[in-house]
Amino acid sequence: MEIRRPVLALSAILAVGGGTPALARSASGDALSAAVAKDYQANLKSLFEDLHAHPELSFRETRTAARLAKELKDMGIEVTEKVGGTGVVGVLRNGAGPTVMLRAEMDALPIEERNGLPYQSKVRQIDADGVEMPVMHACGHDVHMTALVGAARRLVADKRSWRGTVVFVFQPAEERFGGALAMLKDGLYSRFPKPDIALGIHVTSGMEPGRFRVEDRVASSSADSIDILVKGVGGHGAVPQKAIDPIVVASNIVMALQTLVSRTIDPLQPGIVTVGVIQGGTKRNVIPETVTMQLTVRADSPEVRTQLLDGIKRVAEGVARAYGVPGDRMPVVTATSEAAPSNLNDPASAAKVRDALIRAFGEGRMSQVPRPGMNAEDFAYYGAPEWGSVKTVWFRVGGSVTDDLSKAPPHHSPLFIIKPEPAVRGAVEGYVTAAKAFLGK
Ligand SMILES: [Zn+2]
Ligand SMILES: [Zn+2]
Repeated sequence: MEIRRPVLALSAILAVGGGTPALARSASGDALSAAVAKDYQANLKSLFEDLHAHPELSFRETRTAARLAKELKDMGIEVTEKVGGTGVVGVLRNGAGPTVMLRAEMDALPIEERNGLPYQSKVRQIDADGVEMPVMHACGHDVHMTALVGAARRLVADKRSWRGTVVFVFQPAEERFGGALAMLKDGLYSRFPKPDIALGIHVTSGMEPGRFRVEDRVASSSADSIDILVKGVGGHGAVPQKAIDPIVVASNIVMALQTLVSRTIDPLQPGIVTVGVIQGGTKRNVIPETVTMQLTVRADSPEVRTQLLDGIKRVAEGVARAYGVPGDRMPVVTATSEAAPSNLNDPASAAKVRDALIRAFGEGRMSQVPRPGMNAEDFAYYGAPEWGSVKTVWFRVGGSVTDDLSKAPPHHSPLFIIKPEPAVRGAVEGYVTAAKAFLGK
């Protein structure tokens, strides 16, 4: 028997765009793919290009929110605007059954787009700090929004095939980790039907276009933004014995922090402590009073997260003491609000989503590309214990523009680019198929 080319060759997958290699798909998966392909040409392509060309910064997504609200209203979905700032909530009721929440983020980034797309952004906007910034959809949130509109249209059109309630959530400010919490605090789980399961999708530039990847448990890491104010005793650079030099103290804190990951946590558990900013001093012969440091801290497990955060305070204070900093001038360690817990999939629900995707589109649509790094996501708050431990599954869809996945421009880069058609179509298929796995029949 002659096999002309391997069924899973990447070239074959790319050649069919959002399509699939010919491995067992279901009739309902085929019907969904065909409907989504049609909707992409008729509506979603122009919606994507419009959203991409008009990006907006975190908590400033007013044009975007208005456009999305209109899209949902035109389908007859009940819409509430200004939830948690600029958030939009759509509720689609279809008889008794489970409640499924589908979420997309609306915000873009302060980056000047340089990828040369015909619909490249020229937008500039005043940010939360009052500074004018270039703006770009450099994380793919435009893919998610477009796809969630597409998913809503499919669920409305296909109401006979499911029972229950779908809550569509367009969330502001994911990039600042503030949007999910803002919506929850504004009553997302009390003013609207509380979900039995919350589902989120993220496009990945370094993954095969249109393919899916569902993690069993850790979908993305926790992130904490920690500030340290190191205090010393100022003085003359030539009379150091009368001062306590905070630059020396801070330098040693940086080095001592490196041992938190290498010496205190389980070596089989990942963790990161990065000191991204260190600032102090005004003149070469002046020993300053203070030094400021800004850190990002990542972990997968809540235990490692706590260990690292406790360790930072212990190390900072211990080093300060070792250098003779007085007890009333101990370093001030502050956790800023820019934080997110680990984004943990409910394992049984994750398996359900994966099985549903394989049944609909075949094993060939699943990707083996692992997580790109210890990125974080504020989707994690939707499943947090303080908001009722709602089960969540957050999974990825690929959008690479190159066969060599390692060459795909990274997220948050001015050159970021994804292949919109397979990414959007894949995300619509993902939202709909995952939602139906939990809705009643
Ligand atoms: Zn991002
Ligand atoms: Zn993102």
